[in-house]
Amino acid sequence: MLKNLLILGGTTEASSLAYLISKTEFNATISYAGRVKYIRQQPINTIIGGFGGVDGLSSYIISNEITHLVDATHPFAVQISKNAILASQKTGIQHATLTRTKWQKLKGDNWHLVHDVKAAAAMLNSNPRRVMLAIGRMHLEQFYGNTQHFYLLRLLDKPKESLLFPNHVIQVSRGPFTTEQDKILLSKHKIDLIVAKNSGGNATYAKIEAARQLGIQIIMIERPVIPDGLIFYSPEEVIQWLSL
Ligand code: NAP
Repeated sequence: MLKNLLILGGTTEASSLAYLISKTEFNATISYAGRVKYIRQQPINTIIGGFGGVDGLSSYIISNEITHLVDATHPFAVQISKNAILASQKTGIQHATLTRTKWQKLKGDNWHLVHDVKAAAAMLNSNPRRVMLAIGRMHLEQFYGNTQHFYLLRLLDKPKESLLFPNHVIQVSRGPFTTEQDKILLSKHKIDLIVAKNSGGNATYAKIEAARQLGIQIIMIERPVIPDGLIFYSPEEVIQWLSL
């Protein structure tokens, strides 16, 4: 039977897998939630928008004769990862996760670890600081209780709605970033605290290195637990798995 892959995308790893798989005989589709304005052009079939929960994803798998599902979504995209596991079990197809190792604290890092965004926001109940809120666009409202700070937000798109931070700057840009670029950005805005997710990978690690070099504290949000099952750390490993 022809192997037919569904890649749940939205990450650099997913795009690398899409590129690699386009060079093979396998059939593959990459899907996006459709949260951002510009989606990277892919060399394989691309679909945009959710499936409609576990039932919708299961129906998609059946009607498109998907044989393998690779969850290459961001480590903090928990809902779709849970849906992927349940839909794969329900339809009896093979499931694997393509992810990246999380960042490890190195000498010189000043990290305060918290379990989730809510805990990070609770820590900002303090005197005014100059904060880089590097958590993407989702969940920003959880910080609206702490309006005493200046916030620097780095986002992929300009938000449609106005943000309720009295004192903030939005920088619209897409990684990867270099340590030098991030040192310039952090210094320009006199940032003294960063709130970050432990996403892992290279594309957004520059701010962690820049913070180490500039002596800036980071409130680091720990990753949600990675689902059980087959886990790969490179697109090449996924191709090997498909080739078995
Ligand atoms: P989420 O909370 O886990 O998922 C919410 C819903 O969005 C899912 O139930 C699903 O809708 C839809 N969805 C998510 N990823 C999808 C995909 N690749 N293809 C089709 N539908 C998808 O996800 P999230 O945290 O909002 O993240 C959304 C997307 O942004 C993900 O694809 C992720 O890779 C990317 N991203 C997330 C983060 C982050 O920090 N969370 C950072 C960078 C990139 P239905 O139930 O309707 O199927």
